[in-house]
Amino acid sequence: MVKVFVSDFIPEDILDPLRSLGEVDMWQGPGQVPRSTLLANLGTARGWLSMLTDTIDAELLDAAPGIRVISQMSVGVDNIDVDACRSRGVLLGHTPDVLTETVADTAFALIAAAVRRLPEGERMVRTGAWGPWDPWHFLGGDLYHATLGIVGMGRIGQAITRRARGFEMTVNYTSPTRKDVPDATMLDLADLLSDSDVVVVAAPLNSETRGMIGAAELNLMRADAYLVNIARGPLVDTVALIEALARRSIGGAALDVTDPEPLPPDHPLLGFPNCLVVPHIGSASVRARRAMARLAVDNLVAALRGEPMPAPLHD
Ligand code: NAP
Repeated sequence: MVKVFVSDFIPEDILDPLRSLGEVDMWQGPGQVPRSTLLANLGTARGWLSMLTDTIDAELLDAAPGIRVISQMSVGVDNIDVDACRSRGVLLGHTPDVLTETVADTAFALIAAAVRRLPEGERMVRTGAWGPWDPWHFLGGDLYHATLGIVGMGRIGQAITRRARGFEMTVNYTSPTRKDVPDATMLDLADLLSDSDVVVVAAPLNSETRGMIGAAELNLMRADAYLVNIARGPLVDTVALIEALARRSIGGAALDVTDPEPLPPDHPLLGFPNCLVVPHIGSASVRARRAMARLAVDNLVAALRGEPMPAPLHD
């Protein structure tokens, strides 16, 4: 009988096709599955439904010689040593598309919250610091007619662009390859940074993009511009961002993802009122997460049956 390991809770109605295929061993907490549990449980498994919090490296793969397919419930596989999987013949699946619109919604929520200074205003109300209305108090920027710079014009970048049209924004992007996206202009990164009212990072994390928004890049941004990171924390150099916020060389930041993650409550980033941080909830809608879980199960079932996965990870 085929044995499958699942790294976190998946609702039973979604798991059903997997249960009918073999024996399912599902981690149900508390917390994330410990590495020792993975090392102990993957030994006899043929399939693995993994999460982005699993570090999938050569050591783990060597402890799981029977694994034929890893189906991850995420987009962004920076936690996986893809070469180590390929060299062992392990098939890889992921969950693109089904979360794209939800992540773009979250990106826009972060953009709006940062530019209109919503968290600062809310804190002021709650702490009793709300004084009489003042025409020159608490001014922020505008979304309408703003210039948006998107770093990484892929699925999510393009979904953000579609939303930006409603605000009649000017959209620029930087990407290794030119994209056929109406009303969006490809720029090099330096021009994009210096032109933008808001910069949104939506590129994958890999050895080339790690730290791509560092001190030099932040210095190119305008003093009233905002940085939004919806992709992965390590794309932005955290120390450089703290320095930029401290020097007020940018207007602020809004981060769905951080480095480190989770961010400890005493972390310097949390000391800046103009730095909004939310806990990696980009795709956290009921609909998106159920769709991701279903696609991850479908990938696993297909691969274990020897059929093509609906969403294989391509090189
Ligand atoms: P995607 O369709 O693969 O798009 C990524 C885009 O980034 C591609 O178009 C790629 O360009 C571009 N890119 C690669 N290297 C770049 C660089 N050095 N500079 C600028 N652009 C670069 O992926 P997606 O579905 O939009 O997702 C993007 C990332 O978002 C994922 O990798 C993941 O890490 C993150 N994400 C976060 C959440 C969340 O919850 N916050 C949820 C989903 C995804 P080419 O096409 O030319 O290669």
